Order: sequence, then structure tokens, then C-alpha cells
Amino acid sequence: MLFKKSVEGLIEAIKHRELSEEEVIEYFVKRSSKLNSKLKAFLSTCKIKKGKGFLSGIPFAIKDNMQLENMKTTCGSRILEDYGSTYTATAVQKILNMGATVLGKTNLDEFAMGSSTEYSAFFPTKNPWDVERVPGGSSGGSAAAVAAGLVPFALGSDTGGSVRQPASFCGIVGYKPTYGLVSRYGLSAFASSLDQIGPLTKTVRDAAIIGKTIMGIDPNDATTVDKKIDLIDKIESNVEGMRLAVPVEFMKDLNQNVKNTFKKFIEDVKRLGVEVEEVPIPSLKYAVAVYYVIAPAEASSNLSRYDGIRYGLRVEEDSVAGIYNQTRDKGFGSEVKRRIMLGTFTLSAAYYDAYFDKAQKVRTKIKSEMDEVLESYDAIVGPTTPVTAFKFGEISNPLDYYLQDIYTIPANLAGLPSVSVPMGLIDNLPIGVQITSKRFEDAKVLRIARSYEKIRGEFPMPIGGELK
Ligand code: GLN
Repeated sequence: MLFKKSVEGLIEAIKHRELSEEEVIEYFVKRSSKLNSKLKAFLSTCKIKKGKGFLSGIPFAIKDNMQLENMKTTCGSRILEDYGSTYTATAVQKILNMGATVLGKTNLDEFAMGSSTEYSAFFPTKNPWDVERVPGGSSGGSAAAVAAGLVPFALGSDTGGSVRQPASFCGIVGYKPTYGLVSRYGLSAFASSLDQIGPLTKTVRDAAIIGKTIMGIDPNDATTVDKKIDLIDKIESNVEGMRLAVPVEFMKDLNQNVKNTFKKFIEDVKRLGVEVEEVPIPSLKYAVAVYYVIAPAEASSNLSRYDGIRYGLRVEEDSVAGIYNQTRDKGFGSEVKRRIMLGTFTLSAAYYDAYFDKAQKVRTKIKSEMDEVLESYDAIVGPTTPVTAFKFGEISNPLDYYLQDIYTIPANLAGLPSVSVPMGLIDNLPIGVQITSKRFEDAKVLRIARSYEKIRGEFPMPIGGELK
């Protein structure tokens, strides 16, 4: 039953010589190769170990938009299908330095644009709770791998919810650190002002351990800050007297089952001596619209580097313009093309003021309203997702699909730390609660999450049915 163990549990077992480092690694290699054919969580597998440290003997996986030297980094895209990395991302390197072993690179929606892995150019990943359903996205491969116990932890990236939303759909913990705490060097850029790497784990303590390991200033990413927050130190301290705000906007039109599950969360945390109040944050209703102007605008600029000349795929043509056009036409999938078109449109001279500029102003407004609420409350809480995992193909209209991110996007727009923790099952499908706080209050976010996790009790793993 090693697959049920947390990172911490495995470290203990190795320390007390119940298991050797090799035994642990081999166990997970075997389990991964057995279950991956069903789940399709990995795009490539490997066994790479570099350093020695407190994570020696611990396997992990990384989303395939992070560079790992001598491995392919496809970003889930045809345009990078054969692209080999020449260096390793800082966050990945920091984990390798501590002795952990990478077992694979996980599936994602192409260039992290999506919420289901259905937009991966290669194949969709299955949700281990129900293989007819999506694992969420875009870090769906990482989430499925952790939920099914193929690896005890994985890294994902979160631009508008891509760590937290799949964590919610797969019944695990997903933590997005404060913008700037973790280096983005070696993470293929989607929307640079929103992207942040974060861990997917089974427990809140594991999220703190991995979060602490990957953070830190990096000369290769000018947006990193010189701050090392001790996420573990006070994680067990009680939260009595804290005040949590539930945005009124989050509770409107909420699905009844989700509402009931969230009510149970509120009752639970009240037993911890925490006050919970509904608070209006009116500009939140614009968050999705603002995100879908800013993120595609940044993406259209970031993705201009994939031109058939510098990276990856090249479709040979007589003229340079022909190479650009044909390579991008063949190499990018439909969702990526939609975002590039949206982005170039909103950035064009005629529409810049009406869309991009306005979106930036509203982004500032959202940030200041959230900051203001966080002056009088310790955290903002609500369900992570409006629904549980949906079936493949169930949501085909892009606008409905974009609404999946309604609760996760505000934390990215405001650069705030945010964690999703499983809060219950609805028809045997998990759903998470999201806890968000002020910039650099990551320790508080995880402390609240940990307190809740303790009264919630152990969350089940999806080991029923075909996955036995
Ligand atoms: N689902 C969102 C999108 O498609 C968020 C993606 C992400 O966080 N990478 O943009």
C-alpha cells in the first residue's frame, strides 16, 4: 500500500529503514507502468536522479511544459513534439538537488490552455475516480498521477487555475504560491504575468514541504522575490479567532450539491473557532472576462517564438513567411489558435484601449478589492470549481468551458497564494475548497488548509473499479 503514503510518510519509512530508496522508486515505476495505460497521465517516462538530500528515494512527475535536460518538452503540442530540452527548469532543479527522482513528464492541455486535458495534441488523460471523466486541467496528467498514486507528488503550473482545478477534480491538494515566490525559469510561458508553478500532493503538509523546496529568488527570473517563507513551521498552529470571507458572488447560481458540500466545510471550520461571513467583492464578476483578454494577449506574444525557425516543428516552404504560416497552421491546435487570434485582436492598435487597456484597469480593481477584504479577513474561501469532473466532450462551447475557471482566476489576476483542498465527494466525485490570502501569506493559507484537513479526516483515494 505504498501508493497511499504521503511524501512525508515515505521519507519516514526510508529514514527508519523499513524500505530502501531503491525499493520505493521501483515500486512506483512498476505501479506507474501498470496503471498509466489506463490513465494516460504521462507523455514520457524516465528515471532521472541528480542530487542527494531529504527527498532521496522519493519519485515525482512534472508537467510537460517544464524543461528537463535531455528529455522532450512538448507542452502537449505538435509544434514541440520532438523538441529536446537543453536545460532544466529552476523549480525542477531544486527538487532534483534534494535527491528526488523524476519518473515522467505529464500530459496537459496544449500550452496549458484548457481545463480538461482534452486539448492535449496527443491524447486526453483519464480521471482516476471515473475514467469516463476528465481529470481537469491543464495540469491534468500531474493531478491524475498523484491521485492514482503513480507518484507521491507532481509539479504543475497555474495561470488561471491549472493546479487547483485538476486538484479539485481528482481529490488532492493543489497549491499556487504567491506570484514571484517560485521561479518561472524553464516553464514554457503562457501568460507571464499570471503563470506560477505549484505542487500537487495528497496532503497539505506535503504541499508545504514541496512549496518550500521550490521557492526562492532566481537571477534567471526577474519577477522572483528575495523571500523564503517557512511554510512548515507554524502549519500545525491553531486558527482560532481567524475570519474567513465567502464572496457573495461565489455563492450565486451555485449548484445545490456543491453548495451543500461547501456548507459542511463552513460548519467544520466553525468548530475550529473560525468566523465565516459572506462579503461582497463586486468586481469578481468581471474576472473571467478580464482573464480571457489578458491571458490570450500575453499568450499571443509569448507563442510568437514558435515560428518554425527557432524551435521544434518546421514545415518547409519556399519563403520565410510560408514557413511561419504553414508551421503554425500545422503545429498549433484549435484552442491555441483561438487564443492567439483573440490576443492579437485585443492588442491591435484599433482595439487596444477598448480591450487590453481596460482589462488591465479592471484587473487592478479586482486586486484592490481583494486586498481590501483581506485587510479585515484572514482568507477568502469558496468552492474551487463550480462542478465536479465532467465527462469527455460534455462541454464543447468555449464560453461554457472558460467558466470552469470562475473561482480560480481571481487569485492569478491579483497574484495571491491559493490552495485547493478536497472537501467532499458528490456522487463519488471529489470537489475542493479554495483558500486564498494576501500576497506572501502562503504560510497562513496552508495553515488554514491543514487545520481543516485535520478535522475533515483522511480523504479516500480512487482505488475502486478498474483501478484496483
Ligand atoms: N483553464 C484556464 C485556461 O485555459 C487556466 C489554464 C492554466 O491555469 N494554465 O486558460
